[in-house]
Amino acid sequence: MEKDEKLTTSIKKYCKKLGVDVVGFADPKFFDRFPEYNRPQAYLKGCKTVIVVGFHLYDLTLDAWSKPILGEDKSYQFADSIIENFCNKIISFLKKRGHVSAIITYSPGLFLKDASALAGIGPIGKNNLLITPTYGSQVRLRAIVTTAPLVCGKPILESEYCKSCNKCIEACPSSAFVDGKYMKHICYNYSTSNKKKLSDHTVIWCNACIEACPVGKNNDK
Ligand code: SF4
Ligand code: SF4
Repeated sequence: MEKDEKLTTSIKKYCKKLGVDVVGFADPKFFDRFPEYNRPQAYLKGCKTVIVVGFHLYDLTLDAWSKPILGEDKSYQFADSIIENFCNKIISFLKKRGHVSAIITYSPGLFLKDASALAGIGPIGKNNLLITPTYGSQVRLRAIVTTAPLVCGKPILESEYCKSCNKCIEACPSSAFVDGKYMKHICYNYSTSNKKKLSDHTVIWCNACIEACPVGKNNDK
């Protein structure tokens, strides 16, 4: 399939202008290893590229969840609102150039950290999260599927950063890493019963493993 280099450059420039911190492009063919409902084609027929967009959580309180005072059932996530706005703008940008695109829902959706690694943004670390060279794991992610044939990144399948590091494992208050392997149920049980209250309506989940990761930390200063 012929790739549109000019459009790829334009999108990157447009993302920079919008204030998007991380952007990458993944080839849908790499998603065949996942169940059908976690593949890009399940969300857009004729999908040629998965665009991964990341927002830097420069302060981890940006990862907080808020419940409205009037008791609606829905919770709001500050970083999600920002990133959704970015995605809608990118979709309009592509629409003006004749391409159909859609934001991927969170559930079932795509595996966002895998999509990011497949886009060449960074590896998945021992902390079971995406590690970006600039921001470590302090990023909130979202994906768009599009018919635009963009130039895709090279998948990154191993984490160079983690070879001689165990900081996330050592920092975990729930010992959620068993023999170095992340155990989702242990993390989830701990995180749901130890939410930190930032205000009457706002909570933040455990992120000790994100905070402990040294990658990108010097860039915050
Ligand atoms: S989020 Fe908290 S509980 Fe879960 S793995 Fe990270 S440090 Fe451990
Ligand atoms: S803290 Fe160390 S081992 Fe854990 S994800 Fe970051 S670089 Fe990898």
